[in-house]
Amino acid sequence: MFKPKRVMFEKGTLDTEIGKKIYNAFKANKNVEIINLTSNRIKAYIPGEDLSQQYKSGKQTLVVSFRKSLKFQTCKPSANYQLPLVSGCMGQCEYCYLNTQLGDKPFIRVFVNIDEILMQTKKYIDERKPQITIFEGAATSDPVPVEPYTHSLKKTIEFIGKEDKARFRFVTKYNDIEGILDAKHNGHTEVRFSINTPRVINEYEHYTASSDKRIEAASKVAYAGYRIGFIIAPVFLYDNWKEEYKELINSLKEKLPKDIDKVIFEVISHRYTTKAKNRIVSIFPKTTLPMDDENRKYKYGQFGYGKYVYTKEELQEMKDFFQKEIKLVFPKSIIKYII
Ligand code: SF4
Repeated sequence: MFKPKRVMFEKGTLDTEIGKKIYNAFKANKNVEIINLTSNRIKAYIPGEDLSQQYKSGKQTLVVSFRKSLKFQTCKPSANYQLPLVSGCMGQCEYCYLNTQLGDKPFIRVFVNIDEILMQTKKYIDERKPQITIFEGAATSDPVPVEPYTHSLKKTIEFIGKEDKARFRFVTKYNDIEGILDAKHNGHTEVRFSINTPRVINEYEHYTASSDKRIEAASKVAYAGYRIGFIIAPVFLYDNWKEEYKELINSLKEKLPKDIDKVIFEVISHRYTTKAKNRIVSIFPKTTLPMDDENRKYKYGQFGYGKYVYTKEELQEMKDFFQKEIKLVFPKSIIKYII
């Protein structure tokens, strides 16, 4: 659960239900600075001498906001639209795509006008009928660690649960899911947990829930009737990677309840852009992330910038490995893709 060091309230947010709830949660806590913003100069209140410190302070900052733009971004290929409930994440994963996506605004922003956001969601659903519209709740955030403060996920899950032509999905590295266990989801929400080997989690995924906690949360969510999935990502091909990823898949089987076997898997190998690499190196100067360009293949992207991916042979080996090991342990699983 997110324990911020400072909470900023944008003008008017304290008059809303979510704003009041958040204020009440922190008002007596001497370790949390409460700031009433009178302008949108959020960064001015985030301390730090350099980028690395500002990033760390930003990650300890909760900003309570109104979502002004109600135009949802598209979210191909996994969903039709992003559903903006939260932006940013308390985690400090070194490889995180948000490092470049959110640039110098790494703070966590929650939106108090959830009713308006859901009204807009309804418009998008109606526009596409009779087709089903899929919404992604974690495109630019991990919404789970702030859920105990906002309950916006639960509200969204129940809203989508009532819509025949809508589905909702989100992914997390956290375990604060108690609040959604009794939500009336009607089978319309899929919860995915991002997992990795202990070595990768310990080395790169700072301030996230442990692998055991994520798997325990996945079991609870599955028992609450949600469809669950695991994203194994990013996969690193380090010495002994096969043994350790094999152990990870086996430990999933051991820890998940025996009757849960129809699990969805997505597997994504590590890749990076030059922009991301530069950003990562300035935030985490001592990073050990494998980002030697000469060891990778450069893959051209459709918007003019490419990515450094593992070589064709390495990727093939990885695909064969995961296909075999996952099906061996979870014969009824659905492997959506291994890339
Ligand atoms: S938990 Fe996910 S969203 Fe948060 S920092 Fe890590 S990779 Fe990024």
